[in-house]
Amino acid sequence: MQSPKARMLPQQNGEPFTYCMKLAPSCKLQAMSRSKSSKRWLQEHHQDSYVLKAREQGYRSRAVYKLAEIQQKDRIIKPAQLVLDLGAAPGGWSEYAEQIVGDQGRVIALDLLSIEPIAGVEFIQGDFTEQQTLDQLLILIDDRRLDLVLSDMAPNLSGMGSVDQPRSIYLAELAFDLTRQFLTTDGVFVVKLFQGEGFEDFISLLRQSFKAVRFRKPDASRARSSEIYAVCSGLK
Ligand code: SAM
Repeated sequence: MQSPKARMLPQQNGEPFTYCMKLAPSCKLQAMSRSKSSKRWLQEHHQDSYVLKAREQGYRSRAVYKLAEIQQKDRIIKPAQLVLDLGAAPGGWSEYAEQIVGDQGRVIALDLLSIEPIAGVEFIQGDFTEQQTLDQLLILIDDRRLDLVLSDMAPNLSGMGSVDQPRSIYLAELAFDLTRQFLTTDGVFVVKLFQGEGFEDFISLLRQSFKAVRFRKPDASRARSSEIYAVCSGLK
């Protein structure tokens, strides 16, 4: 297993994995259908009961109800823990975790995007695939052991499964690399995965590395999304 310090961006035909700058005809079609699906997404979003509930209860994202359901089932967050939240923006999970770990605990959050500050949460803005972001994170972790690593990271979707799926698996692998190095033996790793190519191999890796791997598809996770959360405990 490559250490996070040594990692590099994946290569495509010998070139670093980059975004497509010029749209090929097939990309244009994809872009058109994506704009339809963006409209549908916006419509659904405004009517979504979890969006309304998050607004009512003052949470920043509907995603908080996914973590809340996992918490209800698996009791992964406890007072005084050191929690790392990868892919934290806009901050629903960090906000929720912070309320449980309390003053004796710590939540470190990281995302590409900025977030409105959350009292008690330390935040790093940066790309988790980049070495300099990892270096900043390692400074904050300072060789302490993490009780819980949450990864809700999802790449910006291009709509092309052949591009999105390897990117999402790559993010999960990087989160796992870090977890393997810093998690306490009784710590928990929760990672968002999309079912598709590479999913089964990644699950095998998790099963080899943890004593227990459970799967959760919280009610707040949209039924048509292939996303699922693996809740892993008992690092071997
Ligand atoms: N759990 C969050 C919440 O409760 O508000 C929602 C997370 S959102 C589904 C996924 C996040 O992953 C996005 O904010 C995105 O910017 C972040 N992300 C995707 N790729 C990333 C990367 N390479 N490094 C850091 N964050 C990344």
